Amino acid sequence: MNAIIAPTPGAQRTRSRLWRVTPDGKPRGFIRSHALEELWFHTGTACNLACPFCLEGSKPGDDRLQLMRFDDVKPFIDEALTLGVKQFSFTGGEPFVNKDLVRILDYALQYRPCMVLTNATEPLLKRLPQLRPLRERSHALHFRVSLDHFSADQHEKARGEGTFSMALDGLRALYDMGFTISVANQAIPELPAYKVAECFAQVFRGAGLPENLPRIEFPEFHPPGVAVTAPQITQSCMVDYQTEATLRKFMCAFSRMVVKSEGQCKVYACTLVDDDDDYVLGETLVESLQVPVSMKHHRCYSCFRYGASCSEMKR
Ligand code: SF4
Repeated sequence: MNAIIAPTPGAQRTRSRLWRVTPDGKPRGFIRSHALEELWFHTGTACNLACPFCLEGSKPGDDRLQLMRFDDVKPFIDEALTLGVKQFSFTGGEPFVNKDLVRILDYALQYRPCMVLTNATEPLLKRLPQLRPLRERSHALHFRVSLDHFSADQHEKARGEGTFSMALDGLRALYDMGFTISVANQAIPELPAYKVAECFAQVFRGAGLPENLPRIEFPEFHPPGVAVTAPQITQSCMVDYQTEATLRKFMCAFSRMVVKSEGQCKVYACTLVDDDDDYVLGETLVESLQVPVSMKHHRCYSCFRYGASCSEMKR
């Protein structure tokens, strides 16, 4: 059974009943967006690697989400600037598989700082000469490199032989060129946090990098479309366990993500939910910001319980 949930243009899409209520009929928790501070672009699910745990299901030649071209991205950059956006961020797939990425960054950096998430392997390494001129743009470019684990063996288990040292080479090259960098790793719950930090610091030192590089740790998100059982987040959970201040930190409260699929650009609520059409909030950013976002997706529990967020913006 489907329902129209609210009288705003974006919300006039037909969404599943579960957008509004939990399976046992309780009203869902919702987040209202207070601003568009960060706009993400999904550059496409094509990737040079095929990690089995990838939350995007990305792999070579994958087109679940299509490659975003400059002409797809520009209108959203222009619209976001009218809404006071503070940063543009790019994720994939591997963004450097997309041949338009450097041109897109060149345009976006005229207006705002940008961040790119990358695996820092061949697609990035071969484009390093093209990145050099971007250091001279009006705004800063930041890179976040995936280094799943401090152990090369663990990292390469899914990513393949040689990818650990390549990622460190990529980090070092970006750092030496003057870009700011950070690292994304998977949560390592079997070790205390201080031990994980020590082990990463050792790896960074060995690679000639600052030992205190910022690290963002992610829980298991599961591949797209997988049925995962997570606790349901109701309207009363949002009151009992969250405050006005914590609600403002959810990505869907201050950001959006643009993806391209079936030849059309669509605005999703955040970087974590591009596998559920209920989360398509509109075709424009203005429209998308009017739609309260349901806590229906299993990944919403990671935000609710652990404060998971892809953003690095200081807030
Ligand atoms: S996954 Fe997190 S940021 Fe995305 S819609 Fe759910 S609560 Fe919001």
